[in-house]
Amino acid sequence: MQIRNAIVVGAGIGGLAAAIALARRGVAVTVLEQSEAIREIGAGLQVSPNGLFVLRALGLEKRLAARGAVRGQAAVMRSYDQADDVMRLDFSRLDPDQAYYFMHRADLIDVLAQAAREQNVSFEFGARVVSVTAGEPPSLTLQDGSTRRAELIVGADGIHSRARVALNAEDKADFTGQVAWRATVPNTMGHADVAMVTMGPKRHLVSYPLRGGNLVNLVAVEERKTWAAEGWNHADDPAHLREAFAGWGGMAAQMIEAVEAPTLWGLHRHPVAPVWQQSGVALLGDAAHPTLPFLAQGANMALEDAWALTATVMSGGVKALPAYEAMRKPRVTRVIKAAEGNAWKFHLRRGPVRFVAHNVMRLGGKYAPG
Ligand code: FAD
Repeated sequence: MQIRNAIVVGAGIGGLAAAIALARRGVAVTVLEQSEAIREIGAGLQVSPNGLFVLRALGLEKRLAARGAVRGQAAVMRSYDQADDVMRLDFSRLDPDQAYYFMHRADLIDVLAQAAREQNVSFEFGARVVSVTAGEPPSLTLQDGSTRRAELIVGADGIHSRARVALNAEDKADFTGQVAWRATVPNTMGHADVAMVTMGPKRHLVSYPLRGGNLVNLVAVEERKTWAAEGWNHADDPAHLREAFAGWGGMAAQMIEAVEAPTLWGLHRHPVAPVWQQSGVALLGDAAHPTLPFLAQGANMALEDAWALTATVMSGGVKALPAYEAMRKPRVTRVIKAAEGNAWKFHLRRGPVRFVAHNVMRLGGKYAPG
């Protein structure tokens, strides 16, 4: 049965993509976002062909290119102590209609929000959802005590999702033993249009250009015993980053030297939510499956979810939500496991093990971006 109205909780990448896709199919959509406005927040994201499929279907590729999204030419893996590439995957080997982009999260959010407004999606900001109740119809309560109902409630409210706990027990995240500094620096070092993973013992650095190639996005990961708070925006002293990567040379050293204001992020492993949907409530993106960044698939999986959820409810109404969960959960679980498996490959310590593993990567040609 055709659904007429939906509430999307969360104006992140997954929530906005779902809002546009539903609105284009004639659903009256309201997005509730806890922040006071769409904020210029976050740094770089990699959009691979699977995520791009959704953005293209929403008609947004040209707008993103106009905002300086960089079309990636290759993914390159290097060892911190060698000039040669351990592996290079040329994106010209992709199918001709496929492409790989690097973009700023703020630009993607802005383009999605603009497209949502053009589809008459309504936004309420400063609207923090405190609880969600599955039912016919499902409902939710905001922090101000007011309640809302809709035929479909989409929980796209990220890693600390309230919608997730409506359908599941509170999840327990484990610290992975890794922290990541994130920063953007001016591209004065001539970083090519490639995603570069520079690997070293107990640490790795991912870099790629943003905004027409004028900036370089850095994600520098270090293994640590001590816990760091989960979240995207804990400011840190750049001296800590430089100390962690002391002894590295070449472009990696130049990029790290240029960092002025990094944020530090403690990487946590969350289980995939056991239940993704129930009586008119459906989870998507990080609310259903927080994803470690070692395969650059967090945003791409959220985009895929948004598309699959819309297709499912438009063909079978909210009664079809179990089909959405059945379709998405196995794929997402595989992707999350693959992302978790990458960290050890990047951080190999012992010389002979690194030598063998890097040669296997050279021969296998498997791309594993961070
Ligand atoms: P998110 O992008 O996390 O969006 C969730 C949205 O829900 C947010 O807007 C949040 O404010 C809102 N929300 C949360 N709780 C509530 C509530 N109770 N009521 C109402 N609204 C709520 N990934 C990268 O690869 N690089 C980055 O630089 C990067 N920066 C990020 C910065 C921020 C501030 C956030 C929130 C996420 C960032 N991510 C980044 C993560 C990446 O965007 C997500 O992993 C991925 O896009 C999945 O998106 P999502 O839509 O599921 O969740």
